[in-house]
Amino acid sequence: MVGVPKSHPRYVSLTIRERLVEGFRKGIVVPEGLMAHGRGEAFDYIIGEVTHEPARRAVRAAAAQLLLSRRPVISVNGNTAALVGREVVELAKELNAPLEVNLFYWSRDRVERIGELLRSYGATEVLLPLEDVEEIPGLESGRRLVSKKGIYCADAVFVPLEDGDRTEKLVAMGKAVIAVDLNPFSRTARAATITIVDNVVRAVPELTRAVRELRSSPEDELRGILRSFDNSLNLAQMVSIIAKRLESFASFGESLGD
Ligand code: ATP
Repeated sequence: MVGVPKSHPRYVSLTIRERLVEGFRKGIVVPEGLMAHGRGEAFDYIIGEVTHEPARRAVRAAAAQLLLSRRPVISVNGNTAALVGREVVELAKELNAPLEVNLFYWSRDRVERIGELLRSYGATEVLLPLEDVEEIPGLESGRRLVSKKGIYCADAVFVPLEDGDRTEKLVAMGKAVIAVDLNPFSRTARAATITIVDNVVRAVPELTRAVRELRSSPEDELRGILRSFDNSLNLAQMVSIIAKRLESFASFGESLGD
């Protein structure tokens, strides 16, 4: 197969797609995951495929939250493993936190493949929903199955690409939930404690950098960062960026119509 030429104007976006397709061929990503990516990609296209200021503020708040937590856990699904497998392993090391495989379309085979992939990237602790499993109350999808030592007893859960149902249930269990979602209108974005509206491929390395930068900050300072963060306001700011971008597309369209 001929790869994407580096000179292509949509090179980055197309190589992200290729990573997912490769994940699909390896049995890590499900077809539904490819479609879910499409919804995210559309939002990324609108926001200009760059990280905006509100997302940077959310990343800082997320880093503060994770550093203040006693038992943080990083939840990994198929798309996350395919897109940022190495990067979540690096984040886990930085936080000294376990990774936990968590799937909506659950199968033992896929759970094991994702676990293997993360270990091949150097992960030391990968929890799988295969033994010592608990269920998240009120959830029916495969996402209800969580490790007793991991998500079940975590005080903060980083859920890079999540569904709204589980976000709501994890919040109801009293956990701080940090989500990454390009769609600021989704139920996940609205239910999470902190939502980073950005592409997961940009958000995860940014978060690792922020954790490194804030690691030696006094607890008071971290609490201050958290106190000054307002998730609803942050989402509203991202919506307003989207609205402005759409207005500029519309005026371009009008100029063509003249
Ligand atoms: P919700 O239950 O939260 O309303 P949903 O049903 O709209 O979610 P899903 O199908 O569970 O969405 O997952 C797709 C979500 O993931 C979309 O909101 C999309 O914006 C987001 N998404 C997909 N790919 C990425 C990515 N690479 N980075 C960030 N977000 C992404």
